[in-house]
Amino acid sequence: MLKLAIVLPCYNEEEILSQTIKRMKSLLTQMIKTKQVASASKILLVNDGSCDKTADIIRRTCAKDKHFCGLNLSRNFGHQSAILAGMNEIEADVYVTIDADLQDNPESIMEMLGKIYEGYDVVYGVRTLRNTDSWFKRTSATLYYKLLKILGVNIVYNHADFRMMTKRAVDALKQFPERNLFLRAIVPLAGFKSAKVYYDRSARSAGETKYPLVKMMALAWNGISNFSIIPLRFVTFMGFAICFISLFFLGFIIYRWSVSGTIVGWASLVTIITIFSGVQLLSLGIIGEYLAKVFVEVKKRPLYIVESKIGFGDN
Ligand code: UDP
Ligand code: MG
Repeated sequence: MLKLAIVLPCYNEEEILSQTIKRMKSLLTQMIKTKQVASASKILLVNDGSCDKTADIIRRTCAKDKHFCGLNLSRNFGHQSAILAGMNEIEADVYVTIDADLQDNPESIMEMLGKIYEGYDVVYGVRTLRNTDSWFKRTSATLYYKLLKILGVNIVYNHADFRMMTKRAVDALKQFPERNLFLRAIVPLAGFKSAKVYYDRSARSAGETKYPLVKMMALAWNGISNFSIIPLRFVTFMGFAICFISLFFLGFIIYRWSVSGTIVGWASLVTIITIFSGVQLLSLGIIGEYLAKVFVEVKKRPLYIVESKIGFGDN
């Protein structure tokens, strides 16, 4: 029987955590009872530097229930790092990562496990309905997935970070040393046989999103710039295209001058200068973005730092 580790990243989730703990506990108990997973299976609550009562709730839960363990990170490192920390720090045969806000259906974990027993190494949780998300989130997500596809980034449509992986798939993930984490694109890169499990995403029942627009946009840009060099190619292409066009333009000006001797107007000159400055700044910006990534990667700073571990005793 497989030892399962359920990893939940938690950041200021005091309003919902007790409810999540209850639901996860009953799920795990049921899976142990029906002999789907080993009794040594664990639910790991990763406290990603919360400043509310999340840490207290985790500590109390771990103290009274041996199926729970906790990981306190030394500060807020972000969702992606919290997930990775959880998977790195606990030993198990199978790992599943799921948000602490119960938006992803915990009961799908059983279905995912079935796929693992069928021989798959990675099982992606895919959202079918997104009616609970706002119109903006839904539309921007759809456009974003399309853009990623055009840019050649391989990710599973409508899959976030609700995912089950075997130990060997997680070990493969550890070989990717990147600092700019975007797990949903790294996991397909690691390979292995994968399957999908579909579920309806529900609304957050308590607390509010820890992903404000700015953070979401940063993650979205990570997804593009970590996995695609097409934006850089586009700059080169644009450079070529504009050189070509300006050659034609130059030819045209010389022709006009030789025919009628007219001086090309001030307005068109200013227009051209403005357009070209814009293009140059944009190109520099894109190059700068990639340079910034290299800057972050070469420093090799740790992705997370563990402050303390609770209830890892028999691990
Ligand atoms: N989270 C985290 N660190 C952060 C932000 C979020 O560990 O810096 C956790 C959060 O507690 C939740 C999950 O990541 O369990 C997803 O966050 P959220 O539900 O706020 O994102 P949304 O579903 O709105 O995209
Ligand atoms: Mg959520």
